[in-house]
Amino acid sequence: MDIDLISKGIGLVSNTIATLKTLKDLMPSGSKKHDVEEKLTEAENNLRLAKAEIAKGFDYKLCQRHFPPGILLVVDEFKLKCNICGNVEDFG
Ligand SMILES: [Zn+2]
Repeated sequence: MDIDLISKGIGLVSNTIATLKTLKDLMPSGSKKHDVEEKLTEAENNLRLAKAEIAKGFDYKLCQRHFPPGILLVVDEFKLKCNICGNVEDFG
């Protein structure tokens, strides 16, 4: 698997969700808008879950403080930081 191609694909899905959110904002308030908001939140959570699964496949560590889990990225020689909540953990 090529992580650059996967990142590009995830970026396109993220952009699509952002576009749909813009369209949702143009809808009049009401129950249909609420339904669309719920579905978009569900889509965002599924995307976070997909990112976490892919990250796990590339041996990234995951932040377990919330669900879907965040991805722990290297910020210092011995520190990892969650890309969602900012939680910092030691590693090594
Ligand atoms: Zn976190």
